[in-house]
Amino acid sequence: VSAILEHPVTDGEFALISRYFDFARPRADVVLGIGDDGAIVAPPPGRQLVMSIDTLQAGVHFHADGNAEDIGWKCVAVNLSDLAAMGATPHWLLLSLSLPAIDHDWLQAFSRGLRAACEQYDAALIGGDTVRGPLGITIQATGSVDPACLLRRDAARAGDVICVTGTLGDAACALLHYPALERDNWLYRRLYRPLPRVEFGRRLAQFAHCAIDVSDGLLADLGHVLDASGVGAELDIELLPISSVLREACIGDLIIEAQLRALTGGDDYELCFTMPPAALAGVMQLAEELEVPVTCIGRVRAGTGVELVGAMPALRDRLAAQAAGYDHFRG
Ligand SMILES: [Mg+2]
Repeated sequence: VSAILEHPVTDGEFALISRYFDFARPRADVVLGIGDDGAIVAPPPGRQLVMSIDTLQAGVHFHADGNAEDIGWKCVAVNLSDLAAMGATPHWLLLSLSLPAIDHDWLQAFSRGLRAACEQYDAALIGGDTVRGPLGITIQATGSVDPACLLRRDAARAGDVICVTGTLGDAACALLHYPALERDNWLYRRLYRPLPRVEFGRRLAQFAHCAIDVSDGLLADLGHVLDASGVGAELDIELLPISSVLREACIGDLIIEAQLRALTGGDDYELCFTMPPAALAGVMQLAEELEVPVTCIGRVRAGTGVELVGAMPALRDRLAAQAAGYDHFRG
């Protein structure tokens, strides 16, 4: 690989991975980490493995000139969010990095953010690969679940309560105001430092029927659950969890601007889940224990589509005009 790089031979693929991504403190179940042709891990006895993969491309999923440390955090967080939505505990990550040129400052910052996310969620980076090309990051994450206790998206049943963690629409709002936002701005952090609901998802599996992480917007992602489960839903617009920051950022506009972002904005990385009403008390207790805000926003029902209860006509018009992520709406 070093032959096609404009930089010294010592910056070859192998050297880059071991220099920037061979973190100390591996998990005890990593038999062999970075440095060989492949990694070797010891799967936890009695559990099933859950795998997910996500590619983030510059200019599509993050700003090409964005802060590299935050990009490193985010690319781990979005993968762990998928594992959380399965009720899985994260274990191991693989990284494939496409770089237009070797920029040591960028790599240093990127690896710092990636490492921080790994340590926060007890995941080990066990292998990597670099290639010269447009800036892009692929991470493959593996976790495990108790086979009796997992969250699938095809298990919603009519009568289930629909809940969501955290608040929705903040990242979409941040995207509108980027690059004016400082790194410590709350909206910026919602976009670039998402906190996947790993512990909550892991323990939610004992209560909930199914879950999905909200990455493409609530309506789109809930739509996947409803499609897979063969059911419909009603959502109460008044109940959507909208942060005070988003509300204030939309001041001067109608509340429907905030509602629109909560319904269709992407990059929230919250969990949307359904459960029988009898499980609600247990979930709320878990929410309190883990200090994860949980809001009930509607109910699963027989049929198809999503009815938006309490939506103002102007919101319906805006939604109708915004076709993307909106296949499932029925006014
Ligand atoms: Mg997902």
